[in-house]
Amino acid sequence: MWGSMSGSAILTTPEETSVLHTVTVTVNNACNLRCTHCYLQYQSDTNELLDPKTVTWLAASEFAHIAIVGKEPLANRRSAEFVSQAVEQFTRSGKSVSLITNGLNARLLGSETVQQLAWIDISVDGGIESFGRHGRGPLASLERAVDHFREKGCKKLRSLNTISAANIKDIPDILSLSDHLDFDLTIFAPYFRTASLRPQYAEMVAPSSYLKGFASINLEKRAGKVVILIGSKYFDAFNESRSDSIKAMLPLMQAGILKEIDGDPIDRGLMRVTFDDLVLKPLESLHTVGYQGSGRRVNRLQTAEETFARLRN
Ligand code: SF4
Repeated sequence: MWGSMSGSAILTTPEETSVLHTVTVTVNNACNLRCTHCYLQYQSDTNELLDPKTVTWLAASEFAHIAIVGKEPLANRRSAEFVSQAVEQFTRSGKSVSLITNGLNARLLGSETVQQLAWIDISVDGGIESFGRHGRGPLASLERAVDHFREKGCKKLRSLNTISAANIKDIPDILSLSDHLDFDLTIFAPYFRTASLRPQYAEMVAPSSYLKGFASINLEKRAGKVVILIGSKYFDAFNESRSDSIKAMLPLMQAGILKEIDGDPIDRGLMRVTFDDLVLKPLESLHTVGYQGSGRRVNRLQTAEETFARLRN
């Protein structure tokens, strides 16, 4: 769930802050895939692409980082051009910018934009053997995306993996793929069922099973290259004891491999803005059917920081 909200940007947010640090923004409502775990199913009456005035509004604020999360930012040429212009505007205003993409249309992003990005997260969800089983097409499409981003001067390339019942057994294979493609960082996050428009066909795995999925792997030697996300809400959902599981995984926690994200990441300075100008707390943003009820309209008469302060209260 934390990976879907913000990708690896969650790792750069402070443990606790009352100041806006990171905005995650859905620039569009289109995707060229239909992943079984996708929570970003949403119908809106307004634009299918973020209003350029909202880009200007965000660029005028002083927060540190903006994560462009799609739906799929490179879904088509128009969206990719919009992303390039927004990245240019955000970096000119002194922000670091990251992008989450499935990589299928990586070629639509030119070198100037790729070099402006602090990092690119690619949602992978499978390994060398299993990639094709997860509706992502042939592995060659991912290899092409990685080659393209590297050739264009990408600073850091990260692999994002949502773990459900369908791919829990593929964790060693996912790590082999990360070695094969030399990702700078591989992130695992558990799939969490949310309230979305289209049914999600993926099945959640219990926290103990999720953690067992890593048990046979020597992860310590991968310190700095692998992060496993977990949080108390996940244990609560399955009525499992957090302390028993965490005790067994303490060495991984001390090595910085297992990371707990508790509560709503709004307390880590994170806020979501949608392509149709809604502002949401990160946990609210996971439940797209509730967007119209829980989202507040962007008010450009306030700064993004003021909007964030109101959202927290
Ligand atoms: S690539 Fe992302 S936005 Fe597209 S269907 Fe998959 S999870 Fe959803």
